Amino acid sequence: MGTIDGLPPLREVIRAHELVAKKQLGQNFLLDLNLTAKIARSAGDLTGCDVLEVGPGPGGLTRGLLAEGARRVVAVEKDARALPALAEIAAAYPGRLAVLHGDALELDLAAHLVSPFKIVANLPYNVGTELLIRWLSPPAWPPLWSSLTLMFQKEVAERIVAKPRTEHYGRLALLAQWRCDARIVMTLPPEAFTPAPKVHSAVVQLTALPQPRFPCDFGVLQRITAMAFNQRRKMLRSSLKALGPDIDAKLEAVGIPPTARAEEIGLEQFCALARAIA
Ligand code: SAM
Repeated sequence: MGTIDGLPPLREVIRAHELVAKKQLGQNFLLDLNLTAKIARSAGDLTGCDVLEVGPGPGGLTRGLLAEGARRVVAVEKDARALPALAEIAAAYPGRLAVLHGDALELDLAAHLVSPFKIVANLPYNVGTELLIRWLSPPAWPPLWSSLTLMFQKEVAERIVAKPRTEHYGRLALLAQWRCDARIVMTLPPEAFTPAPKVHSAVVQLTALPQPRFPCDFGVLQRITAMAFNQRRKMLRSSLKALGPDIDAKLEAVGIPPTARAEEIGLEQFCALARAIA
């Protein structure tokens, strides 16, 4: 049976280029091109869009993105062994795939992409959360990207979309939902990957809002949520004590009972508290 793009099946690509998966690079490959095209489609209409892909590996998702019509894909890959396989894809899609060899944590987005672009990636689990936090914390908002379509371990995906009073609610949910719409669009079993990881995975779609959902200073919000969730079972009057002797009054002024715990407080109230403290 032919592939979606006439290029060889990914198993053959991996064999030909001896791309034995390396655990330390978080290499769990997607080999089903129909699945990678489906993930690409969950990023919305890609025609006329530039896309950043982190960690293309043998190129399954890259091929999905190109087959779904992305105008140009910039793919940054740390593992030099994948470069010849990616060069074959670039040759099949002239002028539409630029491959950068390097570490995504050191990539200067503005140097390689024109805003607005989409970011789509099956992220290496070891740097996935760190990359997400960086993309959500640029110096100015709106960011250079318009949406993020990212594969994470399911537990991390649940932390991103979590609501108050639920198990996974915390700083990541607040950071993501303050300036984005965030939802899980797909879940995948371990067997979807080669090699199969131990846990399930999920694709999260984050769409940048034009401005934060509620006004407040980013630094202050970060500081109070760090303090509040570092001791998530403690009462806020106690976990936020270092903010000053009048913390009870400040909490009460924005409608938060000083005896409440961090996990009970929604984004709007945390933003109100950040404004009161600033
Ligand atoms: N996109 C491919 C797929 O879906 O089959 C591979 C995904 S695999 C989970 C993660 C990829 O990220 C690997 O190819 C790995 O070499 C690459 N990688 C790991 N750390 C990286 C980093 N810091 N910067 C760029 N790429 C990285």
